Amino acid sequence: MSDFVLPPPPQAAAPVAGGGRFAVRRIFCVGQNYAAHSREMGGDPTREPPFFFTKPADALVTDGAAAPYPGATNNLHHEIELVVAILRGGAAIPVAEAQNHIYGYAVGLDLTRRDLQSQAKEARRPWDMSKGFDFSAPLGLIEPATKIGHPKSGRIALKINGDLRQDGDLSDMIWSVPEVVAALSNYVALAPGDLIFTGTPSGVGPLLRGDALEGEIEGVGVVRTRIV
Ligand code: MN
Repeated sequence: MSDFVLPPPPQAAAPVAGGGRFAVRRIFCVGQNYAAHSREMGGDPTREPPFFFTKPADALVTDGAAAPYPGATNNLHHEIELVVAILRGGAAIPVAEAQNHIYGYAVGLDLTRRDLQSQAKEARRPWDMSKGFDFSAPLGLIEPATKIGHPKSGRIALKINGDLRQDGDLSDMIWSVPEVVAALSNYVALAPGDLIFTGTPSGVGPLLRGDALEGEIEGVGVVRTRIV
């Protein structure tokens, strides 16, 4: 008999291509991992160590479901990203071993309250409420690496209502996926079920209610959602 004083929350999960679900533990995200996006955000795209923020696991939006336009913002932005799904945990993972910890990859959207993020940057406050809100992480199907390998290049693009808005290539990442996994594992012990959003190419911009988003990464898959 359970001694929880309330029912445990449902397990966050993301569907796997070909069947089954990936139980999601935590969502980590890399900031500014493409030089052109770093510049458009006023940053300096040098190889300073990558920095990380998080979203709650239950911020996921799967199966092409709609994402409600959140409150407390007038400037909701899209960021299309390659997402890494961790199968084997570990701390202080060497770059050369990072791939052995990866289950697979998906296409994700790091939805961002850009106005709150700008205010947080100016006031030197945390990013949580600009990044980690409800429905802030739409995600496509997870493709196992046993099927698609470990993508190092390939077009990453986002269309909104059919118009191309973001267009880049995975090879433009400042920090490669193994470098991101290794760096993050120096801050936290990675665990099975963790997801890592690996940063967005340039072209981020505002979303409106009714917008239909379709993102695609060559060799990985697609993500679809609608802002309602
Ligand atoms: Mn992002």
